[in-house]
Amino acid sequence: IIDAHNVSKTFNPDTIPVHAVQNVHLHIEEGEFVALVGPSGSGKSTLLNMMGGLDSPTQGTVFIDGVEITKLPENRLIDFRLHNIGFVFQSFNLIPVLTAKENIGFVLQLLRMPRVKREERVLTLLKEVGLENKLNSKPGELSGGQQQRVAVARALASKPKIVFADEPTANLDSKSAENLLNIMAKLNKEEKITFLFSTHDQRVIRKARRVITLVDGKIISDIEQTPS
Ligand code: ATP
Ligand code: MG
Repeated sequence: IIDAHNVSKTFNPDTIPVHAVQNVHLHIEEGEFVALVGPSGSGKSTLLNMMGGLDSPTQGTVFIDGVEITKLPENRLIDFRLHNIGFVFQSFNLIPVLTAKENIGFVLQLLRMPRVKREERVLTLLKEVGLENKLNSKPGELSGGQQQRVAVARALASKPKIVFADEPTANLDSKSAENLLNIMAKLNKEEKITFLFSTHDQRVIRKARRVITLVDGKIISDIEQTPS
């Protein structure tokens, strides 16, 4: 479902170049549950952003579901992302003045879903993450773990086949982190959603079925494991 071929990213090529990602080849099948790990600065966020079409590589190609996203013009890329990819960020990135329901409804509106269907879908999504009782709460009225669950529900709004999560548990206590991972693992298992998440957290790494380690922008290991 994801195919990255010889992908590199160099920041500031004309001044002091930073080779954030170097010649990465990566193939991820539909339904995988993959952790991306490595020291700070090793290129995890840069790689995730390129795979998800949020940033463009300086070299190489990325295919998502057979579409070469690295060659799409900006407007088509935005549309492709909106329909096919979900993102969850470390800092939740919810809109503070909107309620949980509105934060998700907003995406469905971008997808031009009619209002009645939208209401239904928002409720289904918030149920999936166990927050049907927080429909009308704003982010500031929710705990970190609850905010991140709203962010996961929002990432799922368009029924994407892939969700990218950049350190989704970094701002969570260990109980909320485990809860979030369990929700992600359940969605992966029951709805076959492919997850690629970066993390530093050992307990989160243990839940993955495949662990890819980056060091200095290169993949140094790629192993399958039994989650525990
Ligand atoms: P962390 O675990 O701290 O989140 P990371 O593995 O996600 O780190 P990246 O954020 O991908 O690492 O950064 C990889 C390298 O690229 C670092 O040396 C970083 O300083 C550099 N870098 C990242 N973004 C930019 C940018 N926009 N401009 C210049 N350099 C950048
Ligand atoms: Mg990062």
